[in-house]
Amino acid sequence: MNLPPTGRTAEELLAEVARLKEHDLPVRGGQVTAYVYDTGRAEVNDAAARAYFEMLEVNCLDPTAFPSVVEMERQVVGAVADELGGGHGIFTSGGTESIMLAVKAARDMGRRGRPDTGRPDVDRPHTGRPNIVVPVTAHPAFHKAAHYLGVEVTAVPVDLETYRVRAPDVAAAIDDDTILVVASAPSYPQGVIDPIEEVAALAAAAGVPCHVDACVGGWLLPWLRAAGAAVPPFDLSVPGVTSISCDLHKFGYAPKGASVVLFADPAMRRKAYFASAAWPGYTIINATVQSSRSAGPLGGAWATLQALGREGYLELGRATLEATRRLREGIAAIPGLRVLGEPESALVAFAGDGIDVFVLADEARGRGWFLQPQLSYAGIPANLHITVTGVTLAGVEAMLKVIADSAAAARERGPALLPEGLVELVADMDLEALDDATFAELAASVGVDLRQGAGQPQMAVVNAVLDALPAASREAVLVRFLSVVYGS
Ligand SMILES: *Cc1c(COP(=O)(O)O)cnc(C)c1O
Repeated sequence: MNLPPTGRTAEELLAEVARLKEHDLPVRGGQVTAYVYDTGRAEVNDAAARAYFEMLEVNCLDPTAFPSVVEMERQVVGAVADELGGGHGIFTSGGTESIMLAVKAARDMGRRGRPDTGRPDVDRPHTGRPNIVVPVTAHPAFHKAAHYLGVEVTAVPVDLETYRVRAPDVAAAIDDDTILVVASAPSYPQGVIDPIEEVAALAAAAGVPCHVDACVGGWLLPWLRAAGAAVPPFDLSVPGVTSISCDLHKFGYAPKGASVVLFADPAMRRKAYFASAAWPGYTIINATVQSSRSAGPLGGAWATLQALGREGYLELGRATLEATRRLREGIAAIPGLRVLGEPESALVAFAGDGIDVFVLADEARGRGWFLQPQLSYAGIPANLHITVTGVTLAGVEAMLKVIADSAAAARERGPALLPEGLVELVADMDLEALDDATFAELAASVGVDLRQGAGQPQMAVVNAVLDALPAASREAVLVRFLSVVYGS
């Protein structure tokens, strides 16, 4: 029924693509403060899109068949290594894949594997399941990697003033089965940098590798530093740091599907690779989770780096720094709002006192701006997140006005009201046993119409329900939500 009986023309298809995208958030212009990273420079997007298109049908599966892939990857990874303290890299599809490979490499180094030799430490045989020690503010990609790779997660709380993990807490969480310690530069939720030097030093002292998640900051912090910001050392030049992830599809401004993971030790990079000759087909040697894979994202990332150059990134860094400063000060001056911690990069989170931030987000959405809701977790209050990018500066006063107006409106409206007993009902419910239709009815009871084409729901109620639930119930609800959205 979805496949047309006969082929259609490109014009017809493009018209339909445009129609399908009608209700999407705009990817350019700076009014969407998450998901998209905009330089504000059309010529850069254009160069990236054209190179992406040129490389679209090239398959990264076999570098001997397509030497362009090797050369481009060497250049892209080399550029990132030059800025981040050297190392031996892999170009991946995104932060999640970079992190997946870092965790796999750490796992396969063996328990207490020594990064310098790659040999497991036979004097300390493992006793239980391997674990990774991560701050609660670390990206869920670590939980995902652990889930996929059969590794446990030991989560460490953060300081509730600074939102940084404390090194002694990390030290206390390391045990004989710890295969990797993680710190973020910066962590996404509040945009603050964990004490990388301290954490890496204590990991090294315990003989455990240390991964720095610089997915969001890796291609931003160097430029902020060059623009005059005080950025502490965070990369592979820090003793004890054994790997680092850096997404080019964030502050590299490359099209999606572009990240780099760097390992200090080539032996550890080899542990990220996978080879198989266990079948009668072509031999498999993969550097990434994916096997057949378009070289489009690689071409797009390569072209973006080349089109911007050092000077381009520096200018974007300067604009980002200035916009972030104005935003922080502007938000702090709005009655009832407060910035969480001291954002050190271009990520700003703010909470409300007497203002329901989820209602604020809906108000802003109604005014054409998307602010990203973050649920309360581990003692951190519910808040809204803004990713400042190169394009933000031009519209920062307009953004502040929308936030101020939306805050006033949210105060007026009061908090989102939940139907009585709903949270308890959902918390106690066996969501596995529920069918999609019943779930959709439940959603309808809070005013959320999940049917296709029903349009944008008022998210404040949804967020309020999620916010009131424990994490495990939140996850069950989200999985259910996705399966209803995609239908049977
Ligand atoms: C975005 C992000 C990730 C995950 O990256 P994806 O590209 O979305 O897979 C990991 N860590 C941090 C800090 C991030 O900001």
